Amino acid sequence: MEICSVSAEIAPWSKTGGLGDVAAALPKALKAAGHRVLAVAPRYKAYQDGWDTGIRLRFPLFGAMHEVSLYHTESAGFDLLFVDHPAICRGGIYGDARGGYGDNLFRFALLSRAAIEAARRFPVSAGGSAPRALSEAGPVHFLTHDWHAGLLPVYLRHHYQHAGLLRDARVTHVIHNLAHQGQHSFDDWWGLDLPNAAAPTLDMHGVMNLMKAALVSADRVVAVSPSYAREITQPEHGFGLDGVLRARGSALTGIINGIDPTEWSPTADPHLPASFGPEVWPEAPIAPGPVGGKAICKAKLQAELGLPVRDDLPILGFIGRLTGQKGIDLLEAVAPWLAHQPAQVVLLGTGERRYEEFFAEFSRRFPRAVAAKVGFDVGLAHRITAGADILLMPSRFEPCGLNQLYALAYGTVPLVHATGGLRDTVQSFDPGREQGTGWAFSPAAADAFQHAISVALVTWHRFPSSFAAIARRGMAEQNDWGRSAAAYARVMAG
Ligand code: ADP
Repeated sequence: MEICSVSAEIAPWSKTGGLGDVAAALPKALKAAGHRVLAVAPRYKAYQDGWDTGIRLRFPLFGAMHEVSLYHTESAGFDLLFVDHPAICRGGIYGDARGGYGDNLFRFALLSRAAIEAARRFPVSAGGSAPRALSEAGPVHFLTHDWHAGLLPVYLRHHYQHAGLLRDARVTHVIHNLAHQGQHSFDDWWGLDLPNAAAPTLDMHGVMNLMKAALVSADRVVAVSPSYAREITQPEHGFGLDGVLRARGSALTGIINGIDPTEWSPTADPHLPASFGPEVWPEAPIAPGPVGGKAICKAKLQAELGLPVRDDLPILGFIGRLTGQKGIDLLEAVAPWLAHQPAQVVLLGTGERRYEEFFAEFSRRFPRAVAAKVGFDVGLAHRITAGADILLMPSRFEPCGLNQLYALAYGTVPLVHATGGLRDTVQSFDPGREQGTGWAFSPAAADAFQHAISVALVTWHRFPSSFAAIARRGMAEQNDWGRSAAAYARVMAG
């Protein structure tokens, strides 16, 4: 297939969360499966890799003609084009210290328009055959991610297909997080260069909604886990779009994300002080806790964060955006109890000020038990994933979640709220049958969370061979992208 993947983020160039990881890993896996793949993302900075293709595109938007340049790199493992324009290349992804950029509608409209043209013009390589534009080689399958690419199917229908161009192109829209919908006032409608006939597609109760536009106009809709695909058709998790999604019926499916082993593998991770495999959780442990490379990662992590270096305590880790979605309020509620348990707590995140303050305060009050870092630090995220014994993910909702997949691969046992992708990927420990890869609690309430943590701590301290077996089962799970990419290809072709 000829696949054009369009996203606001692409790791490592731009990433605020899972979207950036997936937007890089999925094209790589689709290319490995033999498809011709082009990814298109914004050029937020003058990246070192990326040469000017010389392609110039001109679009009338918001009352002026705008020229866009395309930069190309192959260092991602597939053809990647960066869309360059002064409004895009400002340093921040969605905003800066003062808040979100006021012209994000314009910036992401440029992305969608440029991506369609890129699929028509940029010669993409494929194995031995000569480079050709996607649209010359066959029907183009656009893979649009989240609201930022939500205008693509609208421009495709109204600018191209109406004129007889790209007639057999198809769009599969991927929902990474329905909480963000790209809502804008209809006061800005005039600037989008769309015919009035397109307005109902964007309209959601009198407001322009780019996610809704994509959900109704894409051929297929994918949510990033089967459970999340079900949950978002209900009012509790539908953020007002549950009815729109129910109306799509079987056009909506769920596909779990995979992990990119070139980025996340404990046997070859340049961020770690030691590499390791499943041997770090022996079958007959002589004491609780990991051995070998994971024990080294744990001790170095404790030293790095100024905690007492102790192998007789488990480390409970948390990594993530500090928003209500991630269940930080549950962590806050159990914090006073947690600080007095036989464990250490390590936290990394950025986000809402009040949660950042909670992090800082929690570690100040309990410096021997708690270490918190407010910041976005990819290296530290890897070292926590490797050095912790247990990863906490009390998310109130979680479309897929990547950190629990990384934790499983790194022999770190996930303790999660049973929701969305967490429910699909973490099997709760059943001591009777010696099954399970972690703990999944429900409902999303402090007492259920606290109970799950106390069970996990008792298991770590008193039943080290059970804990080691849970961790080993997690490490044996195959959450690579191959299977997920094949599922995407089936959906796109269907
Ligand atoms: P979401 O996309 O909702 O933020 P995911 O679990 O799908 O959540 O993906 C989060 C990704 O972002 C992971 O790769 C995680 O390691 C990374 N991440 C989140 N917060 C931080 C942080 N403060 N520093 C470094 N990496 C982070």
